[in-house]
Amino acid sequence: MAQKTESFSIGVMASDHVAVGVVQDHKVRGSVHAIPDLATIPPDSLAPVIREKIDAICLEAGVDPAAICAIGFGFPGIVRDGIVQDSPNIKQAKGLNLAQAMAAVFTGTNSRIPVLVLNDADAMAAGVAATRGALEKLVRVWTLGNGIGFGRYPELEGAWECGHMVVTLDPKEHYCGCGGLGHLEGIMGHRAMRMRFLDMEPEEVFENAKDGDAKCQAFTKLWHRALAAATANLVHQDGPGKFYITGPNSVYIEIPLLNQYLHEMVKMTPLQGSVFEVIPTSDEIAVIGAAVSAAFQSPAS
Ligand SMILES: [Zn+2]
Repeated sequence: MAQKTESFSIGVMASDHVAVGVVQDHKVRGSVHAIPDLATIPPDSLAPVIREKIDAICLEAGVDPAAICAIGFGFPGIVRDGIVQDSPNIKQAKGLNLAQAMAAVFTGTNSRIPVLVLNDADAMAAGVAATRGALEKLVRVWTLGNGIGFGRYPELEGAWECGHMVVTLDPKEHYCGCGGLGHLEGIMGHRAMRMRFLDMEPEEVFENAKDGDAKCQAFTKLWHRALAAATANLVHQDGPGKFYITGPNSVYIEIPLLNQYLHEMVKMTPLQGSVFEVIPTSDEIAVIGAAVSAAFQSPAS
């Protein structure tokens, strides 16, 4: 279904902070506003705080909140029917009915506004597709931060918690925030790296590897191998193609190393030919993705 022309939707993206923007024709109208420190906002206050921010961005963009056709909300974790079923990195949100809470704060203004809550990484993938004119293509995005997000556009039914894919059978690999053994996030996640190297920040680990420190070099190889392994697993299930990499820790990615490892792991001819591309971390792309996803799903007026 095509997005309605001249319609405005709202994109909301939660990570460590919350970004909010008005979106029209796959572009942000006005600017994206941020609410810092999501972790300090009690779950019950989240929707009212965001409503205030929506009013502010609507005022700035010259849009009547009553004219908004849909709200898309990207949230980290497993989200089903508007409810946050689990969110390892924002634990207090578990069980929150975000769609209902968001709709409730619009009662009286725009009480029939459809709210779509989707996984944050899927919102990012939709945003990459929308801003690169690739809405007809398969877009997959890894987001490297505290958590490891995996987004797919078009979105598919299922959990798709690929950041928790098992990439090693070593029982000593136990640093994942979810508590599971051998997970990708337990190797690549920012928090997991800090737990592994208690005396070094992740930034220093990558710097020291460049300066020849053997332990840090071994880790950066493991770090790249883990992402290659998870990608290879996806290629064997979902086919080859383009994989975008974003998020604060994507600055440490060495594409040639990743390509080499992936090539070692995927040997069947029809499954070869995948490509990696690092793209800048951007609230704006994710906000557009959340809004576009919601507008697609809202009934045409
Ligand atoms: Zn995990």
